[in-house]
Amino acid sequence: MARIQSDTLKKLLRRALNTRGEEIGCETCFESLDRFVELELDGKDAAQAYPLIQYHLELCTGCADEYQALLAALNELQDGAAPDSAS
Ligand SMILES: [Zn+2]
Repeated sequence: MARIQSDTLKKLLRRALNTRGEEIGCETCFESLDRFVELELDGKDAAQAYPLIQYHLELCTGCADEYQALLAALNELQDGAAPDSAS
């Protein structure tokens, strides 16, 4: 069985999804990212609620970074951290 680089695999997957017209773009991802993160913080299954967002995050490092940053920021807010402690 041939080993396929995961990057190559992702590109292939992305291309396949594009062909099927099911992949969302970064813009759509950003639009729903806050709701996705809120669900996650609520302990709900965000990936099930927004499977295309979840999928995009697995493919797109830019949006994945954004997601991590948003998650970290909201986590801090929920923890009741002092708002002026971030510097
Ligand atoms: Zn993206």
